[in-house]
Amino acid sequence: MFYKGEETVSPNVIRMVQRAGKAQEATPLQVSLEARAKLPTRFGAFDVVAFSNNRDRHEHAALVRGALQGAESVLVRLHSECLTGDAFGSLKCDCRDQLEHALKVIGQEEAGVVLYLRQEGRSIGLVNKIRAYALQDEGLDTVDANLALGLPDDARDYEVAAQMLQQLGVRSVRLMTNNPDKVRQLEKHGIEVVERVAHQLPANGHNVKYLQTKAARSGHLLDDEALLEDLDDA
Ligand SMILES: [Zn+2]
Repeated sequence: MFYKGEETVSPNVIRMVQRAGKAQEATPLQVSLEARAKLPTRFGAFDVVAFSNNRDRHEHAALVRGALQGAESVLVRLHSECLTGDAFGSLKCDCRDQLEHALKVIGQEEAGVVLYLRQEGRSIGLVNKIRAYALQDEGLDTVDANLALGLPDDARDYEVAAQMLQQLGVRSVRLMTNNPDKVRQLEKHGIEVVERVAHQLPANGHNVKYLQTKAARSGHLLDDEALLEDLDDA
């Protein structure tokens, strides 16, 4: 067996995740723009915008540059919260590098948006993510660890993100992503994606397997040769 008994997920948690999935289908989504203020950052001057919604009860944020009302081809990054990467500098994933790179690039644009979506651990939450990390310590990859816990590999939902962009007045986007599912979901929810901008950052010895798994098993568009070259260069 790959994992110890205490690391399995309780039936209550599984029911909670299943209920959340059902509620998602039943209730029409409402997203509200609640507050907006200036936010000078080390990456440039942004406005920070805070949203509420009736679906996941999380307070999501947008970092906005320039005038977006009616704007076309806006450079956009959808970033899902990763406490271990974004705040602690974990090397197990590429989240912080991706976030910082997006802020740097968008910080140079006349208009652009980084959405910071509070869907930790590809939306399974922090506790489950750390449980999955414990299984990875025992040799499972990032997909199998989630599946061993009875959880989806990726439960992220971008309908809230699409409505946030609509409320900001964005008409169409150039989306910084390697994940075709983000492009599909945004388009399904009414945001035109005029271009996908590749968003591959240098790999390290701790995250290369994770990145290869994302490419091989989750359909992410990553250049495998470049990943290996990064390791040679390191
Ligand atoms: Zn991460």
